[in-house]
This record gives sequence, C-alpha cells and structure tokens, in this order.
Amino acid sequence: ISRRRSISSILTSSPLRSRILSPRPKVNAAFVMLVQNKDVYGAVNTIRQIEDRFNLNYRYPYVFLNDKPFTQEFMGMMKKASKAEMTFGVVPVEHWSYPDWISKEQAAEARERMRHVIYGSSESYRHMCRYQSGFISQHDALLQYDYYWRIEPDVKYSCDLDFDPFRYMQENGKNYAFTISIYEYAETVVGLWDATKEFMEKYPHLLAENNALDLISDDGGKTYNNCHFWSNFEIVDTRWMRSDAFRQFFDHLDHHSIGGFFYQRWGDAPVHTIAAALLLPIDQIHFFREIGYYHNPFFNCPAEPELQSKCHCDPALNVNRERFTCTAKFLELSGAKRMVYPEELDD
Ligand code: GDP
Ligand code: MN
Repeated sequence: ISRRRSISSILTSSPLRSRILSPRPKVNAAFVMLVQNKDVYGAVNTIRQIEDRFNLNYRYPYVFLNDKPFTQEFMGMMKKASKAEMTFGVVPVEHWSYPDWISKEQAAEARERMRHVIYGSSESYRHMCRYQSGFISQHDALLQYDYYWRIEPDVKYSCDLDFDPFRYMQENGKNYAFTISIYEYAETVVGLWDATKEFMEKYPHLLAENNALDLISDDGGKTYNNCHFWSNFEIVDTRWMRSDAFRQFFDHLDHHSIGGFFYQRWGDAPVHTIAAALLLPIDQIHFFREIGYYHNPFFNCPAEPELQSKCHCDPALNVNRERFTCTAKFLELSGAKRMVYPEELDD
C-alpha cells in the first residue's frame, strides 16, 4: 500500500475526514456585521477576504444585523461566500428609535446645527452609533457568544492570519482589541467627557485599577484628548460588554441630560474606547499589529519582516505610526513592544 493510498483511505473514514475537511471554531465566538441591504456587494467583498485570509481554516459563524429585514438577495449572496453558519437578525425597534427622554425637536435642531460636521445632519447615523455603542452585544443572535469580531462592508484584510485572534483573546484574558487608533473630530464629542467625569465621580468602584486613563487624557482626567480605537474593527469580549459596569456606563451616557447620542453626534468608537480605558486594566486591551487592515482612508500594516511577509499592504502607509494616532502611546503605557517602522530596517 502506497503512503498516498493510505492517507486517502484514512480521509474517507468519516469522523477524521469531517474534522479535517470542516474545521470547527475553537472559541465560542462570531463575526458581526451591521449592514443595509443596499451594501450587499460591499458585504460580500469583506466576507470573501475574511474567508480567504482566515476563516476557511476556522469557520467561525457570521451574524448579520440590520434595522430592516434582510432581502433574499442579500442572504443568498452571503451564503455563496462562505460555508460558515450564518444568522440574519433584525435590530429590535426599541434599540433603534428615540427614547422618551429625548426631544425629537431638539434632535432635529442639532442635525441642522451640525450640518458642517461629518454625518452631522444624519438621523440614521446617530441611531447606528447609539446601537453599536450600547446595544449590539445584547442582540439575541449574539447572546450565545463570548466574543464578537466586528466587520464592515468594503474593508480590506491584507495579511494571512495563521493564528486565531479569538483564541489569543481568550488565552490571554483580553477584553478589547483594535488595529487602528486615531483622534476623534472634537465637534462630534462635545459633552462626552463632562458626562464621563460625572460617571467617574458617581461610580468610582467601577473603575479598574491600572486602567488606561492616561491613554485618553493628557492631564490626568481633566480633559479628553480624543484618542479612540477605530471601532469599525474591534474584537470584544461580549461578557464584558454585557457586564453591569459597561451597562452602567452606557446608561449613564444615554440618559444624561446632554443627550449626546442625539443632540451631539457621539460615536461608538469614543464610547467603547472610554469604556475600555476606564473599566478595564490596560493589560486587557490589545493591539493586533499583525492584522493588516484597511477602512477608508486608513491602513494598519505591519513592517516587522516576519509579519510583512504574509501581507500585501505597504507598511509605509500604516496610520499607527503617524502623529494623529495614539497607538504608540498605548504600546508604551501597556509595556508592549513598540512598532517597527519600515525606515528602521536595513535592506
Ligand atoms: P463610517 O465608517 O463612520 O463612515 O460609517 P459606516 O457608514 O461605515 O457605518 C458603520 C457601520 O454601520 C457599517 O457596518 C454600516 O454598514 C452600518 N450602518 C450604518 N448606517 C446604517 C443603517 O442605517 N442601517 C444599518 N442596518 N446599518 C448601518
Ligand atoms: Mn465604515
């Protein structure tokens, strides 16, 4: 019997065959994409890359969420792109509408006043930001999972991932992970730090020891420096997001008289970042330098030769090395290895 034959006969014996040919997720985790039906091609574009770069070998399930029901066309396109399990969920109306303590008139005035700010005049964008800030991890379709990895239509994954980021999170006790950090437009977060300071005074017992306050404030907490993890990519321990501390923080912001989700344009990125920075010890936050990632207009792209060899992105374009990012500060504060810059390498 040739070696080749014996391997193929082993492969036809069913339990082993199905283990090899249909991998099973090792961690209780899922991808999540909030998306509209019109973005079907952007969505399938992202899924194909996730599959090719990572998920073909892991087969983590996908959860698609929408404030309107998904069309057959949308669901059919997604199913063609991956054999992984897929759930298509609708966002409950109470998570995507005006709470009764918010005045619709005042919200409309704010949209008018903020016309010059990016998405400042958009109503749906505000519902989206509030939803992703505080409710997404409570969706029925996500309740069973311990981690989610947020993805968006039309992002790019440019490195082969030959490790499992979910498993890394689980084995290293990480609760929040990012690939890009930048500074938020100050006009969008008016009042957010005032509300946060009140939270810190009111609930000091919820703040973590060894937290990352110094990442998001340059003056010991007096002001917010607008540093935020860019949440269009994030890997999150959903048990933390459903914890009393996180919910207390979100509820505090949501009920605050500033009404910033509607009367300003608070984004889910600064909200998640402030939550992570204050409620978690800094060593539970992680920067995935090896995940090459692009969301218009920024890249993460590693220059470390052993990482770069698995990528097709240009490390000179890595936004995390620029002045308008706080990633280097994060690495310094958390005692992690600094980034390698391409110009430091000999050729
Ligand atoms: P940007 O990244 O800040 O420019 O905002 P995006 O337009 O990419 O929106 C962020 C995420 O929310 C993406 O995953 C979008 O698909 C999703 N999204 C934005 N607005 C809506 C909406 O009105 N309905 C649904 N279902 N998803 C939305
Ligand atoms: Mn986006």
